[in-house]
Amino acid sequence: MKRILVAGGAGFLGSHLIDRLVEQGHTIICMDNLQTGAMDNISHVTNKIQFVQHDITEPFPELGDFDEIYNLACAASPVHYQADPVHTFKTSILGAINILELARKTGAKVFQASTSEVYGDPLVHPQPEQYWGNVNPIGIRSCYDEGKRGAETLFFDYARMYNLEIKVVRIFNTYGPRMDAKDGRVVSNFIVQSLQNKALTVYGDGKQSRSFCYVDDLIEGFLHMMATPKEITGPINLGNPNEFTMLELTEKVIKWTGNETSLKFEDLPQDDPKQRKPIIDEAKRLLDWEPKVMLDEGLQKTIAYFSAIKE
Ligand code: NAD
Ligand code: UDP
Repeated sequence: MKRILVAGGAGFLGSHLIDRLVEQGHTIICMDNLQTGAMDNISHVTNKIQFVQHDITEPFPELGDFDEIYNLACAASPVHYQADPVHTFKTSILGAINILELARKTGAKVFQASTSEVYGDPLVHPQPEQYWGNVNPIGIRSCYDEGKRGAETLFFDYARMYNLEIKVVRIFNTYGPRMDAKDGRVVSNFIVQSLQNKALTVYGDGKQSRSFCYVDDLIEGFLHMMATPKEITGPINLGNPNEFTMLELTEKVIKWTGNETSLKFEDLPQDDPKQRKPIIDEAKRLLDWEPKVMLDEGLQKTIAYFSAIKE
């Protein structure tokens, strides 16, 4: 059994990852500053794990040795990461340095939750890992996009300089139970609005596209990645390659909630990518992984979750 640190473990993805790692019998230390995460996300396992409230930008307390470290700590939704962009950037850069130094000190394998945002508003579609992206370095999304790009740089430099075992995945939009209803992401927004019989807020003309991965599939991809031999470093795209426009998403949400809600068109946020779709050939080949839960099924599960917490 392994001793594993999950930074950002009280968040949406982190809490699902911890569920799987606890099931496997590992010893889990969850580090989180609770900026966007919540103890509620891990309350069902707090008697089985150790929780450390700590901001990864600050020097780490003594935590002992680790076999594996997952770095998921970073606000992921535009609303949250833009609220304090300097802190977001520090989280990616200073946080990554603290994480990597801990991995160096303890000899742990270290995993970075990178993002499809490293491709920016992509001029190559769909996106392979070899694409270097089209990112605005000074826009309102840059604190996140450039921060995550910088974190990837740090991971690869630490691997080259200190022979660290790194695992970098680029996550495409992921959804499911425990998404924060108030963080403004499109799937949770549409579901909550529809359940409340409010108009669905479509930004721009709704023709921009995204590829939505169900959380269980993504976490399975994380575990496959961590289990690869040392030479597999990534970056590897993890996501569901089926692509939908936001208008198509409104239709599906309305269909599965059964509420005939109207649409309200609002301004498109600055630098909002027009399209996003991963090529996942590398994940299939190197991780023997591909998503299994398609959007209709995943939406039904997510709607069931939001319906239950509404009651
Ligand atoms: P989330 O906001 O639910 O989780 C992030 C967690 O990190 C929260 O618990 C938050 O409190 C914590 N955190 C933030 N800054 C921190 C800091 N400085 N120190 C300690 N803890 C900190 O978001 P999520 O959707 O679970 O995303 C997890 C990771 O996956 C993030 O790194 C995000 O960039 C990445 N990611 C997510 C998606 C997605 O669609 N959900 C897509 C691409 C990448
Ligand atoms: N979006 C929308 N209505 C909403 C929230 C988001 O139309 O209420 C759009 C947003 O402009 C973007 C897409 O949905 O084009 C995905 O947004 P999200 O914030 O979920 O993820 P990201 O832009 O980071 O991929």
